[in-house]
Amino acid sequence: MRGLVTRAHGLWFEVALDGQNRSIIATLRGQLKRRRQKTDIVAVGDRVWVGELPDGEGAIEYVEPRIRVLARTARHTRDTEQIVLANPDQVLFVFAVREPTPHVRMLDRFLILAELQDIPIRIAISKMDLVETTSDSCADRVFASYEGIYPVHRISAVTGEGLPELRATLEGRITAVAGPSGVGKSSLLNALDPDTARDVGAISLATGKGRHTTIGTRLHDLGNGTYVADTPGIRALAMSAIPSDRLDWLYREFRPFLGGCFYPDCTHVHEPGCDVREAVERGNIPLDRYESYRALRTGDELAEEVG
Ligand code: GDP
Ligand code: ZN
Repeated sequence: MRGLVTRAHGLWFEVALDGQNRSIIATLRGQLKRRRQKTDIVAVGDRVWVGELPDGEGAIEYVEPRIRVLARTARHTRDTEQIVLANPDQVLFVFAVREPTPHVRMLDRFLILAELQDIPIRIAISKMDLVETTSDSCADRVFASYEGIYPVHRISAVTGEGLPELRATLEGRITAVAGPSGVGKSSLLNALDPDTARDVGAISLATGKGRHTTIGTRLHDLGNGTYVADTPGIRALAMSAIPSDRLDWLYREFRPFLGGCFYPDCTHVHEPGCDVREAVERGNIPLDRYESYRALRTGDELAEEVG
C-alpha cells in the first residue's frame, strides 16, 4: 500500500494510506533500518510503501525518491541532512502586520533558506484586522518590498480576509508553514481546517494508544490531497550558516542584474561598476532588501542575530 508520512516520532511513523481515508502506524523494515545514508531514512512528507502486519501495525518497505526537501542542515554543509519536511510543494512564511512587530530581517533569512533549497515561496501577512486605515498601514511600508518578488497574501483569521484566496493556492499541495511564534499560524490552520475534531483522539506514536503531544513537523490533512505542515524548529535553521558567495543569487530580485558587474566576483558592497547597486539607485531593487543583503554579506547581521 502506498501512503504519505504525516507524523514521525523516533522510529514510529503515521502513514496516511492513499485512497483509504485511514492511517496506520508503521516502523521500518529491518533492511531499511540498516541502510546508511547522509539523510533521514524516513521523514514527514515522504511517499512510502507499507505492508500491514496481522496486528494492524505497518512496516515501511520502500521510500520513494524525494523531489525536494526542507532541511535543517542545508546541502552545502557536510553534516547529515536533517529533514524538516520532505517533498514540500511550497512554503508559506507568515508574519503579522502588528503584534508582534514584523521582523523583516528574519523574513529575509527564511526566504534565503527556501531559495537555497529551491522551494517555491508565498508570504502571508496576518492579523490584517489590526490595521485601522490603509493609509497609515505599516503593512504597506514594511511589506511593500516583497510584493514584486513573491506572492503576498493579506489575511486575517479573525475576519476571514484573504483566506479563500490563500486556501485556493494550497489546493492539492503540501505546504510548509513557518513564521515567528505569536503571528497566528495555529489560528490560520484552524481557520483553514473546519474539521477541528480531526485531532481529537489522534493516535499516539509513542504508545500506539490515546492522545499524545507530538513534537516536530506534522502534516494536517485539509482534504483532497491538500496538506499543511507546521514546521517548528525552522527558526533555528534560519540562523544557521548561509553561503556568502551565493548570497546575491538567493535575493531573487537581484538575479536579473547579476553578471553585469565590472568585477566578476563583485560582492555588490563597495566595488565600482556594480549593476546591483545601480539597480538599487534606479529603484529596481528595494533599498531595504539591498541593506539586508549587505548586512548579511559583511557579517554585521550575523553578529547581531547571534548576540
Ligand atoms: P502562533 O504562535 O503563530 O501559532 O500564533 P497563534 O495562532 O497562537 O496566535 C497568537 C495570538 O494572536 C493569539 O492570541 C491569537 O488569538 C491572535 N491572533 C491570531 N490570528 C489573529 C488575527 O488574524 N487577528 C488578530 N487580531 N489576532 C490574531
Ligand atoms: Zn556588483
